[in-house]
Amino acid sequence: MSLANINHFLDKIAPLAGLNKKELAILETPEHIWEAQLEVAGKTYPAFRIQWNSARGPYKGGIRFHPDVSKDEVSSLAFWMAIKTAVADLPLGGGKGGVIVNPKELSPQELEELSRAYIRAFYPYLGSHQDIPAPDVYTTPQIMAWMLDEFEKITKKKDPGMITGKPLDKGGSLVRDIATALGGVCVLEASLQKLKLSGRRVAIQGFGNAGMNVAKLLHERGFKIIAVSDSKGGVYSEEGLDIPAVEKIKEKTDSVINYHNQKEDHAITNEELLESDVDILIPAALDNAITKENASKIKAKIILELANGPTTPEADIILHKKKILVLPDVLANSGGVTVSCFEWQQNLAGQKWTEEDIKKKLQQKLVSAFESIWKLYSTTQEDFRTSTYVLAVKKIIQAEKKRGKV
Ligand code: NAD
Repeated sequence: MSLANINHFLDKIAPLAGLNKKELAILETPEHIWEAQLEVAGKTYPAFRIQWNSARGPYKGGIRFHPDVSKDEVSSLAFWMAIKTAVADLPLGGGKGGVIVNPKELSPQELEELSRAYIRAFYPYLGSHQDIPAPDVYTTPQIMAWMLDEFEKITKKKDPGMITGKPLDKGGSLVRDIATALGGVCVLEASLQKLKLSGRRVAIQGFGNAGMNVAKLLHERGFKIIAVSDSKGGVYSEEGLDIPAVEKIKEKTDSVINYHNQKEDHAITNEELLESDVDILIPAALDNAITKENASKIKAKIILELANGPTTPEADIILHKKKILVLPDVLANSGGVTVSCFEWQQNLAGQKWTEEDIKKKLQQKLVSAFESIWKLYSTTQEDFRTSTYVLAVKKIIQAEKKRGKV
């Protein structure tokens, strides 16, 4: 969503959340925009750190290394982080970073130098009580470790909580690798209870970090995964796919399409997957997968948005009319930022939480977030996404009021 779209979105939410002009202006405006030119091996790379809102706590948001990064994109992502941390009720605000670079064209030494240069440019604005970056597209735990090292060298202080997504032995957290998928499962199970739905047939678009892990977790819990897909196409099994076998095939051949277990199993296209006869549909690959063209053909009763922005606004209207419950990305995939928050909290407290502890806390956090949205949703005619946004925006404004800004 571009910055222009954010204004449009806030104009729609403002009357529902009872916002006045001043409150609206606060939400529409980033608190700080930092820009720099990073010099590596004789080349210059434009870099950004955008701090949107800190009313609820230090800024939080990843750093993206990608050729398509722009100030507009980083700004819009920073805004969404403020919404996401409010939805999950984390004591954090929203920010985002980016560098316009194709990291695949850099040597490992140049990549390290770029990561360190980013910190040299922005370190005065970062820190565990100020702004806490994390990995995003093409940034890794190793990059987080280099960034932490550079920060600690400059500031001459140990501050592992200044960045999350670190390797385990550099203060990283357990459960991080499956956090997004596990958070999605918690939200899904809470919604199944509310709807009193007993059907457990699932289709999943995308078989990467989010899609494969959600397939594994749901399979373990007795759900029937009828269809999965990746960029090459999909596979369908009326009896339910053997997910550990699909995972092995994906690892060996780089695609799920080579899976064949039973006579009836067959190939399907990504379009067919979205329209298949299931109870739960999980878009976990692309944005704009569900559009006004296919929304009316969707048979699922629940859509769990693990991907960011998989449903267009036109499709949303159709799905709402069809009484399909859409669990929006800002809630459904907020398990990742929630475990990032846990990593930061462990670092601040000098603790290492167990896997069991983290999973329990994640479940409590996201079920409680789901419940408070459900409470609002069940009293309005709006869709679940709108209720999610209204609640998040109200939380941010309430924090601004308590700080005396409005
Ligand atoms: P990934 O790169 O690990 O996996 C993406 C998957 O999508 C791959 O299986 C790929 O083959 C598939 N894919 C690509 N093009 C496709 C197409 N045209 N049709 C069907 N499948 C296609 O990425 P990921 O980390 O799993 O992220 C997926 C989505 O989830 C993105 O929208 C991302 O922003 C969102 N998300 C991920 C996380 C996370 O922790 N991984 C957190 C929040 C949001």
